[in-house]
Amino acid sequence: MSKISKPTYDIVIIGSGLGGLITGLILSREGYKVCIIEKNAQIGGTLQTFFFNKSKFDTGVHYIGGLEPGQPLYPYFKYLGLMDELNLEKMEIDGFDLISFSNDANEYPIAQGYDNFKTQLLKFFPNEEKGLDEYISKIKEVCNSFSLYYINTNTSIEAEVEHFYKGAKDVINDCTQDKKLRAVLSANNLLYAGEGAKAPFYIHALIINSYIESSYRIIGGGSKISNALAKQIKALGGHILRNKEVVGLNRVNNKIESAELKNGELIKGKTFISNIHPTQTFNLMDTKGIRKSYLNRVLNLENTTSAFILYITLKPKSLKYEKVNKYHINSNDVWNLTNYKPEDWGKSFAIYYNQSPKDPEYAKSLIIITYMRVKEIKKWANTYNTTTDLSIRNKEYQDFKEEKSQLLLNEIEIKLPNIRNNMSAYNSSTPLTLRDYIGADGSLYGIKRDYNSPLKSYINTRTKIPNLLLTGQNIVMHGVLGVTIGAVVTCSELVGRDYLKDKIKSL
Ligand SMILES: Cc1cc2nc3c(=O)[nH]c(=O)nc-3n(C[C@H](O)[C@H](O)[C@H](O)COP(=O)(O)OP(=O)(O)OC[C@H]3O[C@@H](n4cnc5c(N)ncnc54)[C@H](O)[C@@H]3O)c2cc1C
Repeated sequence: MSKISKPTYDIVIIGSGLGGLITGLILSREGYKVCIIEKNAQIGGTLQTFFFNKSKFDTGVHYIGGLEPGQPLYPYFKYLGLMDELNLEKMEIDGFDLISFSNDANEYPIAQGYDNFKTQLLKFFPNEEKGLDEYISKIKEVCNSFSLYYINTNTSIEAEVEHFYKGAKDVINDCTQDKKLRAVLSANNLLYAGEGAKAPFYIHALIINSYIESSYRIIGGGSKISNALAKQIKALGGHILRNKEVVGLNRVNNKIESAELKNGELIKGKTFISNIHPTQTFNLMDTKGIRKSYLNRVLNLENTTSAFILYITLKPKSLKYEKVNKYHINSNDVWNLTNYKPEDWGKSFAIYYNQSPKDPEYAKSLIIITYMRVKEIKKWANTYNTTTDLSIRNKEYQDFKEEKSQLLLNEIEIKLPNIRNNMSAYNSSTPLTLRDYIGADGSLYGIKRDYNSPLKSYINTRTKIPNLLLTGQNIVMHGVLGVTIGAVVTCSELVGRDYLKDKIKSL
């Protein structure tokens, strides 16, 4: 028997990912009565952290960029009260990302600060000053034409849209004829699951620029962000419901009247904001009367690929801590890594270090990420495993994970030769884990953007249902910066963009 909840909230938000929490906080500050509904025990979506073998691991935020005055994320995090709450560690200035290739002993640095970025790469590519200048100027041109990227920018939508049609691979290739430099500048495309045939340059530019401006690790992990936001929302009278899955959005007269929870409870609201994937959002409701062309587009969005992630704990003082991320490429085509052949699986990967609080010179644990297509785990697609709904998957699945872990360990021995001796334990996650703990189909970053037909994957925060808005990584862009800006775009629909922008700028 359904129960009707009292009161009716001004704003009901589905999902407590970063986008849901930021919209929740902004609107609570503006006096709206907010309720956020989260299916998991832990809030934060991809900001969640977990403990394994006494080490804390991030699920989805390893570093963030643009956090100094004058840089893109700073005014937003300051406005959100996060700058004083987070304990940040600045990554290696002369190379926060180190790029390596098989059969090449060099580690090519991507450094912080544009002059330094150029200086460090010129050590390896002394004849490429012109190429690097060209690359930097193209990145800056994009960043300066996106409104809300730098809060002080005044730019037109036409200036933004112009950039939607340029491919990352083409733009980078136009900057330099040096094949190795092209590969170095493209090698951290795991940051946006970039495929050469589709990845737009603006996504590359907006992300990479933020890290070149400044790169930081969050000490204690991404959950520090979600907890700091939740604390403020609650202090303002907002409600956050955990372990409550939304299974339906009830439409009455073309408006959403309530969110229906798995336990039958109804949460009524005036405005609904979905922080979950647009396809999933529309799958929750009766779509009668919604224009077919819109609906078909939203229900058939293509998503970015997924990943296999290895979580390794290390023996005390066994591996030096490095304030860097390592991207290793073992392929002739850095733009085709998502399309690996079975025999090449795991050969290209990223390594993220976690510091030991007790022995800061040493690493306590490592996270290794390599691509894995969702279809590789389709055999187990009908099984679910979350903290609220725990079912141990069969031995075949455990064997699959073990086999993949061993294959990946073989590959990372190239970069970390003693890793098998140094590690004390390991665990892994597959695309199914991402699907169960966050949502959608297990995709890394939600919708795949395609510069050939950019408007197909363009999702407006306003939907065809007047009191339903969307937020999260599918609106502007994925990542902490993209989702933060997306949340401001969503809230602007309710409180006015100039008003909100002025408030953020005034701090
Ligand atoms: C492996 C990985 C590494 C990453 N590394 C970085 C990084 O280093 N730096 C960076 O900036 N970004 C990184 N990202 C991207 C970044 O973490 C995400 O883009 C961002 O956190 C997504 O936020 P979101 O608001 O879209 O919500 P999501 O994180 O997608 O959260 C959605 C929430 O909705 C909940 N939910 C889903 N369905 C329901 C339902 N029916 N009812 C109730 N609740 C529901 C989910 O449980 C979840 O809590 C990474 C992502 C991944 C996967």
